[in-house]
Amino acid sequence: MEHYDVIIIGAGLAGLHCARLLGRCGLRVLLVDRKNSLDESIHTTGIFVRRTLEDFDIPDDCLGPAVRHVTLYSPARRPMELASPHDEFRIAKMGRLYTRYLDHCLRAGVTWLPGTRYAEHAHRKDGSAVRLETNGTSRWLTTRYLIGADGANSRVARDLGLELNREWIVGVEDVFTGVPLVGPPRLHCFLDPAIAPGYLAWVAHDGEDTHIGVGGYAAMFEPAQALEKFETSLPNIVDLRNARHVERRGGRIPVGGVLRNIANTKGLLIGDAAGAVSPLTAGGLDPCMRLSTLAAKVIAEFLETENPEALAVYSGELFRARFASRLWMRRLVATVRQPALLELACASLRLPILNSFAWHVFFGRGSFPDVDVKFAPGPGCEARGGLL
Ligand SMILES: Cc1cc2nc3c(=O)[nH]c(=O)nc-3n(C[C@H](O)[C@H](O)[C@H](O)COP(=O)(O)OP(=O)(O)OC[C@H]3O[C@@H](n4cnc5c(N)ncnc54)[C@H](O)[C@@H]3O)c2cc1C
Repeated sequence: MEHYDVIIIGAGLAGLHCARLLGRCGLRVLLVDRKNSLDESIHTTGIFVRRTLEDFDIPDDCLGPAVRHVTLYSPARRPMELASPHDEFRIAKMGRLYTRYLDHCLRAGVTWLPGTRYAEHAHRKDGSAVRLETNGTSRWLTTRYLIGADGANSRVARDLGLELNREWIVGVEDVFTGVPLVGPPRLHCFLDPAIAPGYLAWVAHDGEDTHIGVGGYAAMFEPAQALEKFETSLPNIVDLRNARHVERRGGRIPVGGVLRNIANTKGLLIGDAAGAVSPLTAGGLDPCMRLSTLAAKVIAEFLETENPEALAVYSGELFRARFASRLWMRRLVATVRQPALLELACASLRLPILNSFAWHVFFGRGSFPDVDVKFAPGPGCEARGGLL
């Protein structure tokens, strides 16, 4: 039977980042995804925040122009302008970024298995046996450690007896090119419970691509219909007359906060599988990078020492305490559904003290608990250029 130190299920941002770090540590890593190609079925807008861009090596040619301006609209479409002196956001070309990170993985010695579905797992004394299916053919492999990077609805989490996401919103968006940009690149955010109950609708236009989307609690709206309605309501904001529709993206976004039980001696969870998404902004890309970095450190140490104590720092319980205020605000956002109340809330955001709160939500730098992103856990890693 083929044997690996680590098998990673899922080659989204979380799985790719973790795989390249562990590969650079000299571990035998297998990266598996059911997709045949990483630039198919992308489900994220791909907005990276300043903090991620500063801390991690996101290649410049995988990113669109910088965005410094946000307009927040009330349900009655009253705009409020927020501007930052810094480059706050950049929208990534996600297909290109995934492919680049896959290239880093391959150069670090990671074995890549596309078009392959994780089916099940069985405990062994020295790790796990994992059953994979490729084109209807099934085979078993063994691994010392299994990583669930398989997204919001994680099968690996269930099989490892770890916690599962229970609270989601659903997001859907259309991507266009050929939309004229008026003024600087801008993120338009719309608070409107009719089309985005419990979250936001958005237009993200960086001068190259335009993403128009809606998000909200699945039980409270029909996403595709809401998106259509939203798109027809935008003539004063974007001119779609000569726009070319590129693709539709969408998926679940866990918003219950990072899960408590995300690791044991057989495996652990990263990214959406771990619920590592800001409950308030629903941003998951920064948490992917940070949690995957910590996971790589913890796994390298655990496999080297075989001491379960190495896993103790990888605890959702420890991170959750830092999420308390954002979880509380998510509850508030989920319950305020009356347009009049939201209108009032938007009006009050113009008061200086609350305006700085809005500024903090969009431009603040605290999306996920800090982890040390610059570490090298062992001589093997250092010899291969560390973990970044
Ligand atoms: C519409 C939308 C817009 C968003 N916009 C933003 C944004 O602008 N900024 C931001 O920060 N966050 C955004 N998010 C959230 C962010 O995209 C996610 O948090 C992040 O992409 C999660 O990455 P991941 O690697 O954990 O999971 P995923 O990207 O979901 O990757 C999981 C991978 O696992 C694979 N997989 C699943 N099951 C199996 C299996 N059984 N066998 C093999 N492979 C499997 C899948 O094919 C997939 O490639 C958005 C989310 C949505 C839905």
